[in-house]
Amino acid sequence: MNKTVNNNIEALKEILNSSENIAITTHRNPDGDALGSSLGLYNYLLEQGKLVNVIVPNSYPKDLHFLPGDSEVSIFCNNKTRCENIIKSSDLLIVLDYNDFSRTEDMADSLNNFEGNIIVIDHHPEPKIDATVTISDISVSSTCELVYEICAALSNNPIVSKNTATSLYLGLMTDTGNFRHNCSNPRTFETVANLLRSGINKDEITAQIFESYKKDRLSLMGFCINDGLSIIEECNTAYITITKETRERFNYVKGDSEGFVNIPLSIEGIYFSAIFIEFDDHVKISFRSRGQFATNNFSSKYFNGGGHKNAAGGRSSLSLSETIKSFIEKVNIHKDEIIY
Ligand code: 5GP
Ligand code: MN
Repeated sequence: MNKTVNNNIEALKEILNSSENIAITTHRNPDGDALGSSLGLYNYLLEQGKLVNVIVPNSYPKDLHFLPGDSEVSIFCNNKTRCENIIKSSDLLIVLDYNDFSRTEDMADSLNNFEGNIIVIDHHPEPKIDATVTISDISVSSTCELVYEICAALSNNPIVSKNTATSLYLGLMTDTGNFRHNCSNPRTFETVANLLRSGINKDEITAQIFESYKKDRLSLMGFCINDGLSIIEECNTAYITITKETRERFNYVKGDSEGFVNIPLSIEGIYFSAIFIEFDDHVKISFRSRGQFATNNFSSKYFNGGGHKNAAGGRSSLSLSETIKSFIEKVNIHKDEIIY
């Protein structure tokens, strides 16, 4: 069993036994791991007879809506009062896949005012939440892997329900880029084996994510590679730019550029990659690296963000061209660190 889970499992059991009304939360712009861990744990706790609510700060891409329990998810920015009341009336708050209430943006006030027990389950460095129990391990592939370990330990059974397993497999698959990175530990594949034994339809989950694109999304990808890609050769760095005009041209919807930031890393000798997406009032940025360069430190230092060593996000309120100009300057400052 995972060491951090093992060290905390008794405390976790005690809190869960004494909690009846549980609120599960995750970070803004929920991705596969955020939603998969939330609905995985949601289904598990529901099966234990608990009253459980999942609240996410804002909406998420269409391809994540197939998960069991999806129709029960509450979106904070669409129904603030209702969500605030759910949080207030819960006796346990569970924090999944984030390490700081500020990652929930508008929801942060409600969470800061919460007075019951708090459980954090996460794989980002340096958790900043004052919780009753914190299960944080940056060495695991995903929050879903930690949630699996917890469910299996709580019920002393490596087999979880199909609903729980489907959600957890999704997050494990997406956070590893379909088992490309962050999964060198054999335990990740033992977890996958147990999720398969739990009866998931692996091919169906894969198809929902990787074989359900609209043509516009592929056209956008082609455009990004042909016209939107820039290389800073002396810094082993490449970046993709998506302007507002490009988004409109390809009928961009949330999630359409998911994974694009990894594309430049497939070029030989490129160890740092970024994508800049222009919105009305900000530029959304993603960073990825192969090897030594800590993208989370770079993002928190210069671009109001953070994340993992090799995968981080951030944002800028400067114009797109000013943001990129600043990026090029900062990359040059750090060019000696951008190595494999
Ligand atoms: P993405 O580039 O896919 O949005 O995010 C990559 C990783 O960085 C994820 O683990 C995500 O949780 C984290 N991340 C994304 N945006 C932010 C941000 O603004 N602040 C922090 N601290 N982490 C972020
Ligand atoms: Mn994650």
